[in-house]
Amino acid sequence: MRKENKDLLLAAGPTIFSNGQIQRWGVDCSNGWLGILLELVNKLESRQSTKSNKLVVLQIKEKFGTLRFYAENVTSQDALDIKIAEAASIHTCEECGQPGKLKNDGWMRTMCEPCFEEWVSIRNKKADAPANEALKNFLGDYKP
Ligand SMILES: [Zn+2]
Repeated sequence: MRKENKDLLLAAGPTIFSNGQIQRWGVDCSNGWLGILLELVNKLESRQSTKSNKLVVLQIKEKFGTLRFYAENVTSQDALDIKIAEAASIHTCEECGQPGKLKNDGWMRTMCEPCFEEWVSIRNKKADAPANEALKNFLGDYKP
């Protein structure tokens, strides 16, 4: 997640992010889920002032193509809101936030078609890089 988006998210949850875990480890998913996360963080944060045992966010990440939000001191209402946010990620492109689908071509990611195509092409380019390098070494200065 881009730094400005992470900063926006952290600013929305001064109580629930106060343990510094997220500042240290970051938000390990892409920018398309910012809207889902902001909505969740606003809900969770709004309930903390009346609680003695305050909710603490431990980790936010993508796993098997969907959002995972780990926290401590979670009430049943918090747990429900977290489940709703995680479920929303299954229909939301992790890159751009547009409607998406869970894709599985060895990697599981939730993406819209344009973002998925771009991601596959980036991966293919990376995969080709060593082969191109080997061919360049083989050809040397020879230009066919
Ligand atoms: Zn997308």
